[in-house]
Amino acid sequence: MKNRTEMRLLDLSLRQTTFNEVALGYNQEEALNEASRCLNCPTKPCVTKCPVNVDIPKFITQLKNNDVNGAYLTITEMNNLPGVCGRVCPQEKQCESACTLGRKFEPVAIGRLERYAADNNTIESQEQTSENGYKVAIIGSGPAGLSCAGTLRNYGYKVDVFEAIHNFGGVLRYGIPEFRLPKPIVDKEIDSLKKRGITFHKNIVCGKTITISELQTEYDGIFIGTGAGLPKFMNIPGESLNGVFSANEFLTRINLMFSYKTEYDTPSIDVKNVAIVGAGNVAMDAARSAVRLGAENVYLIYRRTRKEMPARLEEIEHAIEEGVILKELLNPREIVGENGKVSKVVCTKMKLVKDENGGRDIPVETDQTEEIVIDTIVMALGNYPNPLLASSESNLVVDRKGCVVVDENLHTSLDKVYAGGDAVSGAATVILAMGAGKKAALQIDKMIRGNKLQ
Ligand code: FAD
Ligand code: SF4
Repeated sequence: MKNRTEMRLLDLSLRQTTFNEVALGYNQEEALNEASRCLNCPTKPCVTKCPVNVDIPKFITQLKNNDVNGAYLTITEMNNLPGVCGRVCPQEKQCESACTLGRKFEPVAIGRLERYAADNNTIESQEQTSENGYKVAIIGSGPAGLSCAGTLRNYGYKVDVFEAIHNFGGVLRYGIPEFRLPKPIVDKEIDSLKKRGITFHKNIVCGKTITISELQTEYDGIFIGTGAGLPKFMNIPGESLNGVFSANEFLTRINLMFSYKTEYDTPSIDVKNVAIVGAGNVAMDAARSAVRLGAENVYLIYRRTRKEMPARLEEIEHAIEEGVILKELLNPREIVGENGKVSKVVCTKMKLVKDENGGRDIPVETDQTEEIVIDTIVMALGNYPNPLLASSESNLVVDRKGCVVVDENLHTSLDKVYAGGDAVSGAATVILAMGAGKKAALQIDKMIRGNKLQ
């Protein structure tokens, strides 16, 4: 088969009015069809391009043989969160980009098969490993922290995860919306870590409720996985008007605090004409959430063109199908208000010029402008790490963007303290954060073994 097996989608009218999951997953027949496309290449180019090196041909062969549990176990040898990664990894830039089949036809839908194995296995929970007597503290319960915690637990460490807010999962919980990543999937992954003996503590803000120095006294190793939660703004006139949101606030109110449900106290966000600035996954999530909140017009303002948008292809396609209007080659220069509330955004028209150094085409301002009438504008321009932890620990070295500085072993400037994920790299991807969490776990294990276990 030249083409990959299509995945069924929720009916468009429901997509525009509910937060139900859009991509419905494969059934058994569809999964077998798709698995049968894999050539089982001996060189395994897909494995090399997977940031955590899942043995992709092996798990696909197991699926071909209808061994869903075996496929799940193969994936979880390298990846603690397969249900999440199967849904949100940018596979087209990773494993699927290297698939041999993709040279002539469509690559194998590796992510969709990963999701199938995660959703359809019957494995209850992996066995608890006995404890080796040493303790590690994990700060932050996003993918980096969860991956570090899971790996260390496998080695026998007692692991405590400290989370600032009232629920676990980081961006998986409060950033990525329900229609892309249903919360029961995140709950399932966290429950399985709890069953394996990891203890989760909520509402503990490290740097305020407890300091790193205190953790250093009590624990044999520490991992910082606090993410990048400080939103960037454009620093243009009008950004303090009512109706200007960071994507973080917009999505957190919707995802974590259910502002769209009347039974919750969170004030609802009334939107009619919404502009989202940016073109990454966060921008797509904000735009598609605005559609579901009932907005009449949702504009996605981007200074380049659709071709250059960094979001996952599927998200861009879904956003357009759902009615999001692309406004390419525009850059906001001023937000105008009436009575303290946003009323329009004035944008500079851009053009793309070739980068002489071979990089991406560069957006350059023209002398023309365009105005868009709006009542809400959401800035989805990326994030920096939150400065709180570094400000409470003067010896923790961070760079000028606030990212924690680490050496090649992910060790920070503090004794026994490692870091990874968005806190180190700035906003990136789930799987890169998980890869860093896993690498840090290996290094923490090595450090503790070197110091104590030998
Ligand atoms: P986070 O997920 O940010 O988790 C950090 C955790 O630490 C949070 O729970 C936070 O509350 C906690 N914390 C912070 N400070 C403290 C403190 N002082 N004490 C205790 N706890 C603290 N990536 C993809 O691969 N695919 C996608 O489709 C995708 N979509 C995205 C959509 C949105 C809306 C956003 C915001 C991001 C998206 N990403 C996506 C990026 C991805 O989610 C992040 O790269 C990833 O979550 C980073 O993981 P992390 O563990 O480093 O940080
Ligand atoms: Fe299968 Fe594609 Fe990986 Fe080859 S590269 S083993 S065809 S998934």
